Amino acid sequence: MNEIAKLLLDVEAVLCTLYEAIYRDYSGIAPASGSGALNGTIGDRLLSRETHEMLQDAASSTADPIEARSLANVRAFLIKEALEQSSAAERSDVARASCLRRLEGPESEMLSLREAQALLPTIEPRALRDQLDRRIAAHVGAIARPLQRGFERLVETSNRLRLDDYSNLLPSLLGFDLPPLVDAARALLDSTEDAYRDVSAWYLERVCGVAPREARFHDWLYLLRAPWLRREYQPFDLVPKGQSCLREMSIDWPKAIHLDLEERPNKVARAFCVPLSVPDSIALSIFPRGGFEDYAAFYHELGHALHFSHVSPNLPIGVRALGDDALFEGYAMLFEGLVAEPLWVRRFLGYRVSADDERFFALRRLFQLRRSCGKLIYEVELYREGLRADRADRYREILGRALGIEVHREFFLLDVDPHLYCSAYIRAWALEDALRRFLCERWDEQWWRDPATGAFLRSLFARGQTFDAEELAAELGAELSLARVGEGLVERLGPS
Ligand SMILES: [Zn+2]
Repeated sequence: MNEIAKLLLDVEAVLCTLYEAIYRDYSGIAPASGSGALNGTIGDRLLSRETHEMLQDAASSTADPIEARSLANVRAFLIKEALEQSSAAERSDVARASCLRRLEGPESEMLSLREAQALLPTIEPRALRDQLDRRIAAHVGAIARPLQRGFERLVETSNRLRLDDYSNLLPSLLGFDLPPLVDAARALLDSTEDAYRDVSAWYLERVCGVAPREARFHDWLYLLRAPWLRREYQPFDLVPKGQSCLREMSIDWPKAIHLDLEERPNKVARAFCVPLSVPDSIALSIFPRGGFEDYAAFYHELGHALHFSHVSPNLPIGVRALGDDALFEGYAMLFEGLVAEPLWVRRFLGYRVSADDERFFALRRLFQLRRSCGKLIYEVELYREGLRADRADRYREILGRALGIEVHREFFLLDVDPHLYCSAYIRAWALEDALRRFLCERWDEQWWRDPATGAFLRSLFARGQTFDAEELAAELGAELSLARVGEGLVERLGPS
């Protein structure tokens, strides 16, 4: 066996260990230990400069484009892991602090940060929600030191590995040109601003009883759950409806998907999917509580699980389990979007969606998109300029403008996902838009009832991540356009 083949086996083993730890942490079985999957000799070898050079040489000398992409993806993964590893101790401090019951809840019960964040959107009396929200912000402020140290370690490690300055390194890790996406994010915030403000004011006043200038992030969390749709989106229906939807699409429920429906203390409240071993073992976790958000989260994660469980086992690890995040997020968003499709809701939930509900569904998506655009602009600035004294104020300013509300400055590092992951969501919304338009044109707006769409999607999933979001859009005769996503959402919001 040659050096590269041995290396790829090690990477596969590391991925399994890593995902197992993530699953145990998110499911509340055991909080993140911080020891990392890349500790010890394997880690030293995989993260060494020699390994990176070997991968680079092998990728540039192979004539096989899939192998070249796989090797490039493995290299990008190892660089990200080296950076993550450098701040593992700090992240572990943050994770432990998030699981300690230090916050007083609305009934004087003691809650961990995770539990408090899960409870917050469900609290009806606004005064109690606001009180818990302020306690959460104070708690996040108190764990600022490990968050700051973690950020400094990441930047130091990037420089020490002599890879590059972190802000310069990111585009090569992401595999696409960053400045045009930042420009598109700014343009989207401008072009959707008026419609967003008008329509969100109406919903905030009607559902949360709050004037827009007084609204806080917790009001949005409450609104996003669509409390008035609770009866229509029943918890006991969630999994069986998902299975019958797949049957109509001619997708059998994959044996590789393990459902975890148990409730445990410190289990992440939202649904999540962990590809423990692609394509043979995929964990899909949820504790169904019912409601629109529950359905949206479950179908999103189901999209991930379907993709991973249909990937061809013969593909190399670098395109079987790694690659462009926007691609598999795009699949997830396609499935998430079903639960807001009036015809789908009518068929599977027996409910007739009102015009106000439809506008709400568009507003919800626009809120998420504007938040990701704000995060992208903020995070690019954070990496370029570092931890300046006004960083927390810049977070409040940029995110506050994007969302049209007051946000807590204390979240300026906690609300940062590794390696500009928000950019994957932004490109994924554009991919979902292209993919959904393609499915509607080729079949019709009820494409999810046609067995041929299941076959089509299965054939895409089987190809793993041998292509990226832009390449898939091009195959569908489209291109990724954030402007078009914004136009579509403003149109669905209706005249202001
Ligand atoms: Zn996702």
